[in-house]
Amino acid sequence: MRWPSAVEVREVGPRDGLQNEDPVPVDARVRLIDALSGTGLRRIEAASFVRADAIPPMAGSDEVMARIERHPGVVYSALVPNPKGAELALAAKADELELVVSASETHNQKNVKRSVAESLVGAHELVELAHGADTPVEAIVSTAFGCPYEGDVAPERVAQVAGHLVDAGADRLSFGDTTGMATPARVHGLLDELERAGIGADRVGLHFHNTRGTALANVLAGLERGVTRYDASIGGLGGCPYAPGASGNAVTEDLVHMLHDMDIETGIDLDALLQCSHLAQDIVGRELPSALLHAGPRTRKYAS
Ligand code: ZN
Repeated sequence: MRWPSAVEVREVGPRDGLQNEDPVPVDARVRLIDALSGTGLRRIEAASFVRADAIPPMAGSDEVMARIERHPGVVYSALVPNPKGAELALAAKADELELVVSASETHNQKNVKRSVAESLVGAHELVELAHGADTPVEAIVSTAFGCPYEGDVAPERVAQVAGHLVDAGADRLSFGDTTGMATPARVHGLLDELERAGIGADRVGLHFHNTRGTALANVLAGLERGVTRYDASIGGLGGCPYAPGASGNAVTEDLVHMLHDMDIETGIDLDALLQCSHLAQDIVGRELPSALLHAGPRTRKYAS
């Protein structure tokens, strides 16, 4: 089996992770992002510009963006639900905006109180705004492998939404397994369908949650198909808003550890990442689900 020789890991703990934890102070968010900036990561999802009353853990995102120490070569992105959020993110000097549209009608309604069609219209406006400020936009199709309200989501539907987002001018595409419903077979199934729709693996980013323990298996399926962009969260920060107690995103250090042993380059220093994982655990004050944090790298010698 041949897989890519290098992979880009985007760290989403400071946003996707912390958004699903009890709110932590801006100070702690800045400290975590600054630590992550020194690990060799090239992309960090740093904040989200949503209404603070809707998502309290992301309140103060403008302050976070203003206070982080930006490392050259690191892209600090912000998630935005609509053009209003885009304006705020651009004012806060986000390097890239992330726009989310759900492939499932019910999830999109609950998430952003709009139909998918309305969100796609809004996507045009949002991309125009961002491009006017020379800022690229990544479009994320969420519930790409299943929806907590509707169950299975047809890959054809996901490809259709992705096609509309490309038409809206999105610079990059990502597919989110919002509630951990993907399995390797479904990853292959979606990539097949995207290919049929003219969207090759080279244009795809994958975002897995480990809700049902399949995140790394799903990454392997993506690698087999040549996908080189993956999201992960330090320590496995976060969780699932629909399933209290469930695991969050794929764990960054577990992913990087696996990739390095497969001779896949990430440019990331695993030891530095583990320091960040400890920091993340301190910040949220609970034990995180990271395997590596507990077991150490595979070369670790246990006392006999
Ligand atoms: Zn997510």
